[in-house]
Amino acid sequence: MSQEKNKTKSVVIIGSGPAALTAALYTARANLAPVVYEGDLPGGQLTTTTEVENFPGFPEGIQGPELMEKIRKQAERFGATFIPKMVEICDLKARPFQIKVGSETHLSHSVIISTGASPKYIGIPGEKTLLGKGVSTCATCDGFFFKGEDIAVVGGGDSAMEEATFLTKFANKVTIIHRREEFRASKIMLERAQKNPKIEFLMNTTVTEVLGTDQVQTLKLQNTKTKEMSELAVGALFVAIGHTPNSSFLNQQLPTDANGYLLTQPGRAATEIEGVFACGDVTDHFYRQAITAAGMGCMAAIECERWLEASDHHG
Ligand code: NAP
Repeated sequence: MSQEKNKTKSVVIIGSGPAALTAALYTARANLAPVVYEGDLPGGQLTTTTEVENFPGFPEGIQGPELMEKIRKQAERFGATFIPKMVEICDLKARPFQIKVGSETHLSHSVIISTGASPKYIGIPGEKTLLGKGVSTCATCDGFFFKGEDIAVVGGGDSAMEEATFLTKFANKVTIIHRREEFRASKIMLERAQKNPKIEFLMNTTVTEVLGTDQVQTLKLQNTKTKEMSELAVGALFVAIGHTPNSSFLNQQLPTDANGYLLTQPGRAATEIEGVFACGDVTDHFYRQAITAAGMGCMAAIECERWLEASDHHG
């Protein structure tokens, strides 16, 4: 390995969504030469959506992958290095921290964890092939495209109620399809959905297949009690069955909540381990927006830079 490769880095950023890229931009501009391990989906969740209309600064909207590419280039311009590899192990027990990528081990004085969260999918035929063509996991991102259409939402938790309620702003009708009779959703959110005249409920029902060529057209359904099959014509299917934060590679070295979201100090990006910062969807199940993730990436970078400065590892 070359000396340059062996050199302890100032900051390693893990992830490549808006939080990671913004952290890269800020730490690069602070002359910290950040190294970004992008993982196996460079650009993160936004690369699986089409048009982004709510990121400030783009009055005509922008394609998700293009937005990510632009922020990446902006960070590169100031000296960030991007490596399209997965971090397998991140050893935070002692400083400098050890980051294992394939057969290589890299050392870094600080680490910014911005590995995001992955939406859960049902795992049925047509779901992945029609992703971005009517199948979506984000009503805030994609609801606007289905004005006046009939839409289905799968799930029985707060996310499903929230997505369905939001979608009634655009849809002709929203059908919540839930596999059981009881809901995980909180009473208040369930009641809000139940009171909405545009929302219908299909209980004890699973979606078994999504049909359509260029766009979602029909859902194949099955009643979980009677096993009876049926079809439902819709323009879109929103899958709202939860997210999984990508924190398991840390092997519980950092505290998480019950669902695996990394805990940071209140209102901060600092974690309980000095020199380790976390930002974006791996810490946040509440906002889950590109712009909030970017904001948190900025926070992590500024906290990281100040910590490096104070601990004499700057540059
Ligand atoms: P959740 O509470 O875990 O609910 C997931 C729902 O999806 C459950 O109803 C589950 O059905 C269903 N489901 C899971 N796998 C499925 C599958 N393969 N096929 C069909 N249905 C499936 O997840 P969430 O709704 O995303 O909420 C996660 C956390 O975030 C919760 O703590 C929630 O309160 C919070 N949250 C809060 C807000 C808010 O306050 N504004 C908004 C969103 C989320 P079963 O019930 O049968 O298991």
